[in-house]
Amino acid sequence: MTNSPDRPSPMAPGTVAQAGPLLDSLERMLKDEYSVVRLPDDVESLDPAEAAKVRAVVTSGRVGVPSALMAALPNLEIVTNFGVGYDTTDVAQAVARGIRVTNTPDVLTDCVADTALALMLDVFRRFGASERFLRDGEWESRGFPLTRRFSGSTVGVLGLGRIGQAIARRAAAFDATILYTTRRPVEGVAWEHVASAVDLARRSDVLVVAVPGGAATENLVDAEVIRALGPDGYLVNIARGSVVDEDALVAALESGEIAGAGLDVFAHEPHVPERLIRDDVTLLPHVGSGTHETRNDMRDLTLANLRAHLAGDPLPTPVPEMAAV
Ligand code: NAP
Repeated sequence: MTNSPDRPSPMAPGTVAQAGPLLDSLERMLKDEYSVVRLPDDVESLDPAEAAKVRAVVTSGRVGVPSALMAALPNLEIVTNFGVGYDTTDVAQAVARGIRVTNTPDVLTDCVADTALALMLDVFRRFGASERFLRDGEWESRGFPLTRRFSGSTVGVLGLGRIGQAIARRAAAFDATILYTTRRPVEGVAWEHVASAVDLARRSDVLVVAVPGGAATENLVDAEVIRALGPDGYLVNIARGSVVDEDALVAALESGEIAGAGLDVFAHEPHVPERLIRDDVTLLPHVGSGTHETRNDMRDLTLANLRAHLAGDPLPTPVPEMAAV
């Protein structure tokens, strides 16, 4: 895209706007390059004259550009999303208005897959709980209870995309049997495709969730899927809290219908329901991609997309829906 006389240059104040907090170094680099405005959290208080100047919004997967905010930005051309998940941005409206959306795939895959493995190992082996046991001085009087072997288990991967495949490869190195469920079988992988999430859960020792969030996958892991894991089965979720019916999960844990869970994501972050804070649940505060290296790579890719758009160059990583724009 090129600048026309009636379109403010990338350097014009307000062309680039920030929605929600961002990585400190990303905020700094944006400010060094552009005269960035910070959008208010409350869309009602957005000044229409300021809103009309905005051509680009930089945001994170946690905040996004939801319907009302996008509708209030009449000249918006691009949403550059820090994160691979962009379910908080109204992509349907973006497609309808020809607004581009970019995300940060691939660069975070390894760290998120590492996190999934850590959660799987921890729910089986209870390393976190055993460390708390030691710190609490309980080892002085007794040994830690025996746990479950992870190596050689059956791992069901729900969503075998970039992250799901990286999880499967790692689990395979632990001699796990890998099963997976996607809407379409993935070509070129040796692992068995299972048509439904319920059947996948029934056949797995641990179900690890790696599908995108959003309306299409809301509560995909419902009471029936959770129950299908059985009393020796575990649920691990590194995807989005919206994918798992959190109430059903709590109920299944409390009644012993499943053995435990490992969660990096929750339905209403950063709120974690009190009833989920249990000994048989490993809870992480959404740290899947949270390393210096990966967050810096995500920052650089976010900036590369923004710069490419404003310079009229091809976007490095548009989201798949942009094929229709
Ligand atoms: P991806 O490459 O697009 O993979 C998504 C996979 O999910 C695909 O295999 C897709 O296959 C499958 N899928 C989508 N809808 C499905 C459905 N209804 N039923 C079954 N399978 C379905 O995405 P990715 O890069 O691996 O990322 C996955 C998600 O991880 C992100 O969207 C994000 O929400 C989450 N994430 C979390 C963190 C964290 O910090 N915890 C960090 C990064 C990403 P089909 O299309 O064939 O169904």
